[in-house]
Amino acid sequence: MSELLTKPYATMRVLDQFGIRAKKKYGQNFLIDEGIVNGIVEAAGVTKEDCVLEIGPGIGTMTQALSAAAGHVVAVEIDTSLEPVLAVTLDACPNVTVLFQDILKTDLSALCSRFNQGRPMKCVANLPYYITTPILLQLLKQKNCFDNITVMIQKEVAERICATQENREYGALSLAVQYYARPEAVLTVPPRCFIPRPGVDSQVLRLNAFTEPPVDADEEFMFAIIRAAFNQRRKTLANALSHGLSFEGRTFTREDVEKALSELSLDKAVRGEKLSLAQFAALSKALKVC
Ligand code: SAM
Repeated sequence: MSELLTKPYATMRVLDQFGIRAKKKYGQNFLIDEGIVNGIVEAAGVTKEDCVLEIGPGIGTMTQALSAAAGHVVAVEIDTSLEPVLAVTLDACPNVTVLFQDILKTDLSALCSRFNQGRPMKCVANLPYYITTPILLQLLKQKNCFDNITVMIQKEVAERICATQENREYGALSLAVQYYARPEAVLTVPPRCFIPRPGVDSQVLRLNAFTEPPVDADEEFMFAIIRAAFNQRRKTLANALSHGLSFEGRTFTREDVEKALSELSLDKAVRGEKLSLAQFAALSKALKVC
């Protein structure tokens, strides 16, 4: 069995041995804390029944722990210079398949069919922070591919994802994620748990995917409204939508928006940041027929 990498000296030795330097352009911050690695795998509830997608295995630190807990692990890594490293660090992990490709260009539905007969997989990852949002939305929009997504991300982004109307961090990202899943903050992780140290705290977030959306709405139209509302979040909704919303060639007057708001018993001076997901869904229905 290769040496476990969850110790700073073990990670340093592997990096030295292969002449590897962490690449900023790929958001490489390698985990060196055993407690955190085990905490992530535990939070994901991985069992031998599971096929797990790991995004960005890096030098294989979390992959080793996932391999021990899961039935199969598919690890997608963009950095081909890590190929010789992973060949060594994962030599005792026969249930791991590493694919060297960009996760954003990966057909997740095909991957799920190929490795798990189309049944939902779990996704577990210490994500590259520079593409956190596109990766999360890609995973969540892929309906019925992932029932549980457990990821390490920047704490500030995790707070935005979990926020409700009561919080200052509430916005389009909170609503986009909460339409697909229930987010749960699991662990806060300080910079000292990584080599190199990131400049910010991190957070492990577990996203429990819904099988059906929690609200009934025309998804495209509702998110066009949400984007327009938060693009100009200091403006009233009536103002923001009458100036910033255009959908399938349609635009809306201030009167249209105020009428729809009054149907929902909402003040005509309300701002988007005060509306829940259910209220945005209701607003999209009211506006659609006006
Ligand atoms: N899992 C390792 C760990 O915890 O030590 C490394 C995590 S590091 C924060 C992010 C990893 O994602 C790096 O290995 C990086 O090369 C990889 N990565 C960055 N962009 C990627 C992409 N578009 N597709 C797949 N992997 C990517």
